[in-house]
Amino acid sequence: MGGVVCAKMVSMSSKAQFVRSDRVTHALDADAAWQQLVRRDAAAEFFYGVTTTGVFCRPGCSSRLPLRRNVRFFRTVAEAQAAEFRACRRCKPDAAWGRPLDLVRGYLEAHADRRVSLDELGRVAGLSPFTVQRLFKQAMGVSPLQYQRALRAGGLRRALKQGGRVTDAIYAAGFGSSSRAHEGAALGMPLARFAAGGRGERICFTTARTPFGWMVVGATARGLCWLALAATKQEAEASLREEFPAAEMKRDVGLGKWVEAAVRAVTAARGAKDELPLDLRGTAFQLRVWQALRAIPRGETRSYSELAREMGMPKSTRAVARACAMNRVAVVVPCHRVVGAGGSLTGYRWGVERKRKLLEAEGSS
Ligand SMILES: [Zn+2]
Repeated sequence: MGGVVCAKMVSMSSKAQFVRSDRVTHALDADAAWQQLVRRDAAAEFFYGVTTTGVFCRPGCSSRLPLRRNVRFFRTVAEAQAAEFRACRRCKPDAAWGRPLDLVRGYLEAHADRRVSLDELGRVAGLSPFTVQRLFKQAMGVSPLQYQRALRAGGLRRALKQGGRVTDAIYAAGFGSSSRAHEGAALGMPLARFAAGGRGERICFTTARTPFGWMVVGATARGLCWLALAATKQEAEASLREEFPAAEMKRDVGLGKWVEAAVRAVTAARGAKDELPLDLRGTAFQLRVWQALRAIPRGETRSYSELAREMGMPKSTRAVARACAMNRVAVVVPCHRVVGAGGSLTGYRWGVERKRKLLEAEGSS
């Protein structure tokens, strides 16, 4: 296996477009589609464009619901693009949702707060419920239901990773009894790997000097899982090994283009933006916060309370701040765009001075 294996795997997976259009033989019923859009039904099989913004989205997008009169529906990405709509940056209707399993995993993570049925997942993936179950289990080592349980056990996972006593971890995660925790912790591969600092994961990485210090990027076959800034190359690499002490590491200079893309995300002219594949893992709540961070436009900042309000959780400022602090992919998930209520820089996992430079480069300070 050569040094570019990771980068290649990723680009292949993002190219494997999942064709939905061939299954949609009926004409799109605009009224029914509108009802699905109002419900933000992520399993709905269409895309919608907003004429006032020129952007098209998946029905489950977290953006604000547009006015009915400004909406146009499309059965395929190609149709939307032919009508000169461009893809939304939040829900990425044109991007790597290629593989049905990614689709299923993303859907489970977005709906971790309730039980998702196999029928529902079948619709999302365009497969039979039975096939979803079988493929998912094959790939993940757990059933979709177990995966959801594992997601809900995020607090447990974190506590275990920090090396706390199991009984304390169970208590911290809010499980009523150890038997329920066991049920949630019968996790199979993904969670066990995570708890063990990346054991069983293969992470390709590279380092490069950037205007913001030494940058290290780490990627699994799914995408970027670590991006950190440090004063020296050694320090940068050490941060990756600390986060994933048990993962198999492999240097891959092919990832240098991801470093460049990350730097461009801060320095390039507005509008130019590369979409890097991300392998973000966390609780459903953390994933929501990181998603909200990615929605802060370059050149703008938010306070933690503003971010919490934008997420519709005005009382969760502290939890939002904690989730920002757990971000593993600096710059691309722009936690540096969150500042103190008075505009002060507050803390930054990778150094306040670097945060200041990043914000300067973005023209927001
Ligand atoms: Zn969208």
